Amino acid sequence: MTVYRGTFLDTPAAGELRVELDGGVRVRDGAIVARGPFAELSGDDDVVDLRGGLVLPGFVDTHVHFPQVRAIGGLGMPLLDWLERCALPEECRLADLDYARTVAAEFVDGLARAGTTSALVFGSHFAPAVDALFTEADRVGLRVTSGLVVSDRLLPEALLTTPSRALEEGRALAERWHGVRRSRYAVTPRFSLSCTTEMLDSCADLLASVDGAFFTSHVNENPAEVAAVAELFGGSYVDTYDKPGLLGTRSVLAHDVHPTDGELDVLALRGTAVAHCPTSNAALGSGLFPLRRHRAAGVRVALGSDVGAGTGFSLLKEGLQAHFGQQLLGAEGEPLTPADLLHLATAAGADALGLSDVGHLSVGTRFDAVWLRPSAGSTLDVVLRSAAGPEDALAKAFALGGPADVAAVWVDGDRVRG
Ligand SMILES: [Zn+2]
Repeated sequence: MTVYRGTFLDTPAAGELRVELDGGVRVRDGAIVARGPFAELSGDDDVVDLRGGLVLPGFVDTHVHFPQVRAIGGLGMPLLDWLERCALPEECRLADLDYARTVAAEFVDGLARAGTTSALVFGSHFAPAVDALFTEADRVGLRVTSGLVVSDRLLPEALLTTPSRALEEGRALAERWHGVRRSRYAVTPRFSLSCTTEMLDSCADLLASVDGAFFTSHVNENPAEVAAVAELFGGSYVDTYDKPGLLGTRSVLAHDVHPTDGELDVLALRGTAVAHCPTSNAALGSGLFPLRRHRAAGVRVALGSDVGAGTGFSLLKEGLQAHFGQQLLGAEGEPLTPADLLHLATAAGADALGLSDVGHLSVGTRFDAVWLRPSAGSTLDVVLRSAAGPEDALAKAFALGGPADVAAVWVDGDRVRG
């Protein structure tokens, strides 16, 4: 058995920071079997010394696009222009399997470097590319839920498919990867705007035929997009997914910046979670996320990086931007404490993805963890050493931390990075 020694911070309950200052976490076969003050955990175990920094649960990214690593940084455009000019041309390149394999390696490495241990990943429109993503995530050891992205209108011709082909290719990928080690399948229409009702129905058929599969897509991101969907379907954006039966407790919709109260009620009723992607929302000018309204309606919310509209893989940055956004909403905003931000980046994400045994570092959970240890003399290092306490240290980590401060990452007790 191994005992990890360090300062452990986690949030098994929303809004409450749990702290072990000179703590120990004992891990056997990837599971946490004991935790407490290090002095009380002495024994014959191997000790891994993680002092000098913070040990947090591995981050959970609930919305991130595999084919968009190289599209990061396309600033200065609203959603539909950004898709046309930055994201979709890059997504077309993944028709080339060698290119897709290279991007898959860059993508999975980007997640791991940022301390992300679990992710709901928007795949590619090309089945071999999605297979390449699963292969790489499986090799590295991350928990990835992903699937073939499908569309049958309005996108470049190379990205379109048919409902029957989408069903066939999705089923084959799910058979190959769903429930295999840490991988799971997610039925993934790009968004209603690019899908006919026949395509959304075929997604519902696939979802019903793969036991435990997830559903993910986009909703209510940008007013022009919302208006276009309303024109095509005639109802609310949420209804375009709800009517075919795509919404449930294993469904995650990204953005939802512009929901109606009725839509929030439907999401709450179905138990569907929302992936809040704050840097993306800011970069594309999509708007400020109405977190308070989601919470009041009882809708589950977690964080997503939304790379490549989002500006990087780090959920520390997303947490900080979530905080900024709520501050900018003034009286309509939800003030977020450092503990709230950690919860959104870890336990709330695990809950949204139905991962009941990760997201915090409790006895009985799997050891998915990230060790933040800034390099000596960096500004984060300086301010952490003068922090007033654990909550202050956590605030400083969100304010200043990033992938360069991630010294090591574990999934199931396996060291996947560092
Ligand atoms: Zn997205």
